[in-house]
Amino acid sequence: MDHKAIKELLPLAALDQLEPDDASALQGHLRDGCEECEAELRALRETAAALALSLDESAATRAADFEERVWARLRARLQQSAPSPSLPGTRPSALARRHLLRGSVGVWRAAAALLAAAVVVATIYAGQLKRQLQRARADQLREVAAIHSQLSDLSAQLRRARDEVGALQRVLDERIRLERVLSAPDLRLTRLEPLLPAAGAHAVVAVSASHDTAVLQASGLPATPAGKAYELWWITKEHGPVAAGLFRAEQGQPVIASVAVPPRDEHVLLGAVTLEPAAGVSKPTGTMYLKGAPGPA
Ligand SMILES: [Zn+2]
Repeated sequence: MDHKAIKELLPLAALDQLEPDDASALQGHLRDGCEECEAELRALRETAAALALSLDESAATRAADFEERVWARLRARLQQSAPSPSLPGTRPSALARRHLLRGSVGVWRAAAALLAAAVVVATIYAGQLKRQLQRARADQLREVAAIHSQLSDLSAQLRRARDEVGALQRVLDERIRLERVLSAPDLRLTRLEPLLPAAGAHAVVAVSASHDTAVLQASGLPATPAGKAYELWWITKEHGPVAAGLFRAEQGQPVIASVAVPPRDEHVLLGAVTLEPAAGVSKPTGTMYLKGAPGPA
């Protein structure tokens, strides 16, 4: 390494920051007796030392300033909380100051430790709070689900009750209609007698032309099979069987059903009941269960 290259290393050498290879190259160069490099290195080292000292001094000054500020704050606090017997502004001895300062450093450390502890406690508390919140939310969801299922149970019960009330209402309506017809001045009864499949069954159809109302009351009919319905017919001289309405029978329950009045101005020979498909038919196709002629007008 030549003199020029070595000279470029000198600032780093003054700060003891050379790589080992460069440091030994410099040592060799100085041993070879380069006075210029030796002089420059010495000057650079003195500058660096002076610089370091002044840096130390300014650091020391800053430290002293800091100490002074801390002291002033501490003194202000001490005067606020417990009036000192010494006069305001009177500085305690240097020893007492150092003692108090050590104390105040201890206070700062304690405060920092307390702060750290508070952060830890707050973090733990936040975690617990979060878990409590999650538990509360899960409980709430379960309650909502329970309430929801209770509500759907209740609404199913309500639907069933409404259906029952509707059925009772229809029966009541039929009864009221039947009573009205039975008390009509133009009441005409058609008694239907049982045929073989319905031995023991009987029915009566009450008709009031003036009320335009006909009501059938039956008992002893076999329960209507699934997909089937009983159908009432007016068999007239002019048109044969005329469909007069569908009804269903429950086992052991009397039947009251609104039916159609016989066609006006036609001569009714018979009333009859057959078992037909549930939707009904326009002419009888099934087994006849009941049959009877109208009574006198
Ligand atoms: Zn040199």
